[in-house]
Amino acid sequence: MSETLHQRAQQLFAKSLIEGLSPDERTWLDAHLRECADCAQQTAATQELLHALRSVPVSVPSDLAARTQLRVRLRLQESAQAASIGAILWIITAASWLLGVLSAPLVWRGFSWLGAQLNLPKPVLELGFVLWWAVPALIAVAAVLHQKTMNNAFRGTRGKNV
Ligand SMILES: [Zn+2]
Repeated sequence: MSETLHQRAQQLFAKSLIEGLSPDERTWLDAHLRECADCAQQTAATQELLHALRSVPVSVPSDLAARTQLRVRLRLQESAQAASIGAILWIITAASWLLGVLSAPLVWRGFSWLGAQLNLPKPVLELGFVLWWAVPALIAVAAVLHQKTMNNAFRGTRGKNV
């Protein structure tokens, strides 16, 4: 079987995930997947991955969000002076996570579409997808840590308990 047939099968499969297929395309893809074990295996693996990713927004980010919030809270307890600014950062962190969780299915669709358009390798898409969630919270946590460092610097000699 020629390489272009497998490529067409993969492209149609990607299309089926994003915008759907015409009846002709569906028939062609089904026929190819029946004959071609490689493509069938690859599409099955992708289906599994997508299924797993769809279940991720419910479980993992809420856990990560809870841990991030805990960390930020601990920082607040350590540094009462930073409480007001820290609280704002805490709210930003929580909001960014909530937005990330709520927008995850849309974002993933967007990434899939972009990947199909630009022919990006799957790991790049997954990394981008993960960073979409992780970066805002990491920035907020970094801001809290920076704030704490600044406070300790202001305290001068008492700042040695870092
Ligand atoms: Zn094939």
